[in-house]
Amino acid sequence: MKSPKFVYLFEEADGANKKLLGGKGAGLAEMTHMGLPVPPGFIVTTEACLHYYEGKKKLPKGIMEEVQTNLKTVEEKAGKKFGSPQNPLFFSVRSGAAISMPGMMDTILNLGLNDKTLEGLIQITLDGRFAHDAYRRFIQLFGKIALGVEEEEFDQILNKSKARIGAKEDTDLDADHLRDICGQYLGLIKKRTGTPFPQEPMIQLKLAIEAVFRSWMGKRAVAYRKEFNVTPEMANGTAVNVCTMVFGNMGFDSATGVAFTRDPGTGENVLYGEYLVNAQGEDVVAGIRTPKPIQEMKKEMPKTYRELERVRKTLEEHFHEVQDFEFTVEKGILYILQTRNGKMNAQAIVRTSKEMVGEKLVDKEKAVLRLKPHELEQLLHKRIDPNFKGRPIAVGLPASPGAASGKAVFDADEAERLGKLGHKVILVREETKPEDIHGFFASQGILTSRGGKTSHAAVVARGMGKPCVSGCEELRIDPKVKEAIIKNVHIKEGDFITIDGSRGEVYLGEVPTVDPEISKDLLTLLSWADEIRTLGVRANADTPEMAMKARQMGAEGIGLCRTERMFNAVDRLPIVREMILAGTKEKRAEAIAKLLPMQKNDFKEIFRTMKGLPVTVRLLDPPLHEFLPSAEELASELRNLKELESAFASMENISGAMRYLDPSSRDSLKLLENVAADITEIKEKRLDKKLIRKEQDTLRKVKEMMEVNPMLGHRGVRLGITYPEIYQMQIQAILEAAAELMKEGVDIQPEIMVPQVCTAQELKWVYQLVKKIQKGVEKQYGVKIQFKFGTMIEVVRACMRAGRLAEVADFFSFGTNDLTQATFSFSREDAENKFLPLYNQRKILQDNPFEVLDVKGVGRLMMITIEWGRRTKSDLKIGICGEHGGHPESVEFSHSIGLSYVSCSVPRLPIARLAAAHAKLKEKDKKPPEKYDPDTSFSIFF
Ligand code: PEP
Ligand code: MG
Repeated sequence: MKSPKFVYLFEEADGANKKLLGGKGAGLAEMTHMGLPVPPGFIVTTEACLHYYEGKKKLPKGIMEEVQTNLKTVEEKAGKKFGSPQNPLFFSVRSGAAISMPGMMDTILNLGLNDKTLEGLIQITLDGRFAHDAYRRFIQLFGKIALGVEEEEFDQILNKSKARIGAKEDTDLDADHLRDICGQYLGLIKKRTGTPFPQEPMIQLKLAIEAVFRSWMGKRAVAYRKEFNVTPEMANGTAVNVCTMVFGNMGFDSATGVAFTRDPGTGENVLYGEYLVNAQGEDVVAGIRTPKPIQEMKKEMPKTYRELERVRKTLEEHFHEVQDFEFTVEKGILYILQTRNGKMNAQAIVRTSKEMVGEKLVDKEKAVLRLKPHELEQLLHKRIDPNFKGRPIAVGLPASPGAASGKAVFDADEAERLGKLGHKVILVREETKPEDIHGFFASQGILTSRGGKTSHAAVVARGMGKPCVSGCEELRIDPKVKEAIIKNVHIKEGDFITIDGSRGEVYLGEVPTVDPEISKDLLTLLSWADEIRTLGVRANADTPEMAMKARQMGAEGIGLCRTERMFNAVDRLPIVREMILAGTKEKRAEAIAKLLPMQKNDFKEIFRTMKGLPVTVRLLDPPLHEFLPSAEELASELRNLKELESAFASMENISGAMRYLDPSSRDSLKLLENVAADITEIKEKRLDKKLIRKEQDTLRKVKEMMEVNPMLGHRGVRLGITYPEIYQMQIQAILEAAAELMKEGVDIQPEIMVPQVCTAQELKWVYQLVKKIQKGVEKQYGVKIQFKFGTMIEVVRACMRAGRLAEVADFFSFGTNDLTQATFSFSREDAENKFLPLYNQRKILQDNPFEVLDVKGVGRLMMITIEWGRRTKSDLKIGICGEHGGHPESVEFSHSIGLSYVSCSVPRLPIARLAAAHAKLKEKDKKPPEKYDPDTSFSIFF
């Protein structure tokens, strides 16, 4: 069988074949075809690398003959000869796989140098020092990479020589010193390998090719591929790029530099980069000389600058992407040594995407794909100034992105008070509860020492778009003395702190931040994403203000309106408590009657704001005790009241005691009697027996309602069925709000959603209630109300019974926060700061399933649900409203399994819109079975 071709000249290789040639080789081939000035050279293919390994680390037969033939052509093109002492040709021998693995494999420069060609190099460069230094570096690099001599041994020789002559830096060594060091290096190699350093250039080349192949399986490269999941399908073996060396240090008509075809920091359409005259690339890297901005080249080397401008245009027109390229000018002649797609920040990607569509360099689809959803995140939140160099004092969970500074405050009331006075505050709590909501509104950010990324603090902060660091367990908080302690640092109320919710970091003091940037260009890009995507994008929003923001950010409806947030408003909470604590049905009805108009008004405002778009209102979900103070708080308050009572009692008696001890001191007695009277008055006013009794009643009720596992207990529809008055009131409020708006002629699309359903019987029960109330409201208002009725899917049994649930429901909405909890049997409140980090670190789980949807478990349940649900009702609308609805990979999965929409917190809407467009575009490249098999297409978990 004829053996494959292993070596390709740059001009004959197919630049599109990165798999065979590696990224670097393909780029060199492509640029050669484009007529760009690439120094001549050839590529030994990745296939040769695979043969090398198959052949027990032996180069495939005939390969060096192929190399020899190609070398001849290169010599002719370069007008130089490999190994010639007069006119020597030197090579750079570089690794390069199909996927860029920066710095992970080996490269050898100045190959071909030996005792004889060294003289040639001195002649060409007229720089003995440079030539000897190049030889020294070559021997060291070759000795280490190709011959396996320890780098340290070379360093010892160098350091000893430097010490002997009193040189501080390498640059203090002159040509003679370097010649001597080269001699010592050669001696070392002979001693360690038992043979002299190979002077024959062809042998050097063979050994170098083998060494580059070996570096593919080197420790660094293997670890890199594992870390970034580089599979053999993505990159298999490295190519070897053998390219003629050109020198940028041959005088003042020579230079070296790096350039971008556009500014990678701003995206501006200008040549951007740096260069050094009479220098080699290493000078830039080593920081020996400071490079100049490329714009200065206009004056200093105008011809080269004009050429670079042409190169810039040619590269972009060919690659349709911003390029990052390296160049060298040797005696006035420009060479391009490498090109690759330029890495830019998000702002630059947005601007270049928009402008490149205008310039017809890319189409809208490509423009949308250029911006990755996680890069977009950078633009949506305040960030810590990247120039800031300080270190955090503690690290917790990155629960809601963005950075914020403010005075540490330890309770929600104080946060509200200071907030109203115009102070910036950070609410610092062990954990937050629904009753802290007013503190959230007043704060710049939230820091908690307990709770995960789906804890109350995290979910509420994300919904509001405020930064949050949760589960910062290093933080010990003492709300009584209003102090937090981290290590030995005491943070007192009023001390400034900064949190970075994107990284989970906590800093002392006010750290500088940079503002988010939602530019016009970004809005344009998002509008293109909307044209492409087929997956709907809705928002989770609970108030008219949030609904308004959601609309502005492109939401196509509200996918989850959590009614409990309304119950927590300052004016509602006391009535809600009245309702919960009511001893009789009548008392409960009284409280509920007060709530009805308030809820109706809320719904009216939200429906009106979202006119023309659907709004899913979820009936009450959390356990009722969440609206009450905790048993510990109540017990401690009661203790205080009782202590106060006994203190008052002894003070009231003080004049009697005095009279007994000293009946003669009439004046003091009078005074004490007055004080006692005052105390009695205060006591009667403030320390009412009724108050104590009320607190005792509340404590008893709270204790009665206490549950071991409240998240699996009396909540959701179970609460609705056992306390029907609450759901009744909410349904009434929704339908009356709808009827009133319909009468006003407002186009509304209400949807009533039931949480925590596990059997069709529960859903039927609520449905009958809805139907009964609907009848009454329609009669009262004289209108027919259009609305949808559906269920959340957040219980495993609900997934299994989807076919039956769909008989009653018009829509399903996956509550993947609870569904994840239920599928894993992980308490979402505890998992994230107890064992999940270790699980992730040990790769037992690759991701946090509360953040990235677990497609292999939860995802599979979702697929079963969809299948059975749509068997019953083919047009069943199905969405997702858990936190995953705003996570890019989860959005992609949601698209691939046929969801109708995702619903996410308002600040994540742009990310979801973009991710949905990406999902649609990527769909084209996927084979059909992949689309539906989570094991193959979404390898999130091992
Ligand atoms: C869910 O469980 O995914 C959900 C949206 O509901 P909540 O987070 O309010 O329990
Ligand atoms: Mg839920």
